[in-house]
Amino acid sequence: MNYDRIVLRYGDLTMKGRNRKVFEDKMLKSVKRAMKPFEQVTYWRTYGRLYVLLNGTPHQPVIDRLKDLFGIVSVSPVVSVPTELSAIQAAALEVMESLDWTPKTFKVNTKRAWKGFAHGSHEMNHLVGGHILPRFPELRVDVRQPELELKVDIHEEATYLYWDSIPAAGGFPYGTSGKAMLLLSGGIDSPVAGWMALRKGLELEAVHFHSYPFTSVQATEKVKTLAKRLSYYSGVPIRLHLVPFTDIQTKIAHGNQENLTITLMRRAMLRITEQIAAKVKANGIVTGESLGQVASQTLSSMNVIGRAAVLPMIKPLIMMDKQEIIEIARKIDTFETSILPFEDCCTLFLPKSPSTNPNLRVVERVESSMEDYDLLIQQAVEGTETVLLSYNEPQSEQRDEEDWF
Ligand code: ATP
Ligand code: MG
Repeated sequence: MNYDRIVLRYGDLTMKGRNRKVFEDKMLKSVKRAMKPFEQVTYWRTYGRLYVLLNGTPHQPVIDRLKDLFGIVSVSPVVSVPTELSAIQAAALEVMESLDWTPKTFKVNTKRAWKGFAHGSHEMNHLVGGHILPRFPELRVDVRQPELELKVDIHEEATYLYWDSIPAAGGFPYGTSGKAMLLLSGGIDSPVAGWMALRKGLELEAVHFHSYPFTSVQATEKVKTLAKRLSYYSGVPIRLHLVPFTDIQTKIAHGNQENLTITLMRRAMLRITEQIAAKVKANGIVTGESLGQVASQTLSSMNVIGRAAVLPMIKPLIMMDKQEIIEIARKIDTFETSILPFEDCCTLFLPKSPSTNPNLRVVERVESSMEDYDLLIQQAVEGTETVLLSYNEPQSEQRDEEDWF
């Protein structure tokens, strides 16, 4: 079938007044960015809907890309014809003949937005349905629960026909909710948290702590791969801050508070992240924590760890079960990368019995007793390397952002 356009539907519940304008502008920007590889396509925006005009581009790859973009609830390939009865009937028949499945029941659902058209909607349902039925002896009309509903939207400039509605990622368009830092480990959880944060319209910069040479180059490569995957969903390159964490970890590990190792490391991570956040003007910290999953993710641990930061902590996975998280990780295609067996800095220094109920005063005392601890934190911030990563530029890690935004 020669679909000539794709219609994109937004969620309409949360968009009122001015918000709607901002949302629609960002949406269009996001769509245009994602459509860059499809050089022929153009755009047409009307109230509450956005059309991608294919101009000869095959519809399937365009739909495959659009359905992963945030802010779009569903998409449909559409065929448009002149608003004349015979053209509409012919197109309807062609749509039915092009299906790669055989519905047993169908109905035609006409909406006559242009009242100047000679036939009413009800009459059109019959005129179009009656044109299709003789060609399909097995096909029946079912107005209540049809397997296929052929929509016919009559406007003055053209009539639009479509039947398929493909669910898309939902959420808000990229960059409608402000900017946050994502603590990105190489694990299963944090990329999923990042995807969920992006879906809510957050702009993200990722931070990864590595303990080179205790952790391998591959461990960092794996995190880069995950960051690139996130950039596919945002549609823009993502900054990844690589923080040298070896000195701090060694310092913590040499203290005699083994059960507090993780608590101390996490607090150090937050302090460093806040400093980077201040530089890049981010207003929150996203992590992949999930309540009760490990010792550092008990409520009591999270309380003591979280006090090292003043920025709001965003924990999209907090109430999810591991299995649910894994399902999303598979769906967004980060799972296979996440399970590659390269050690994370925290796994390496994992104590035998990490505290599930650390005491804030003790933790603070240990921190202030560590010589040059603030200096080490400062050095980690200063030693941080930043790379810009993009899903569609695998060879070039660093490039001028102006090209993109
Ligand atoms: P993940 O699968 O995301 O690694 P996890 O269940 O293994 O999570 P932890 O390793 O305890 O849990 O980490 C909790 C959160 O802390 C992670 O989701 C991530 O946001 C952050 N984090 C852990 N290690 C690092 C790291 N090396 N660099 C950046 N962030 C990290
Ligand atoms: Mg982990």
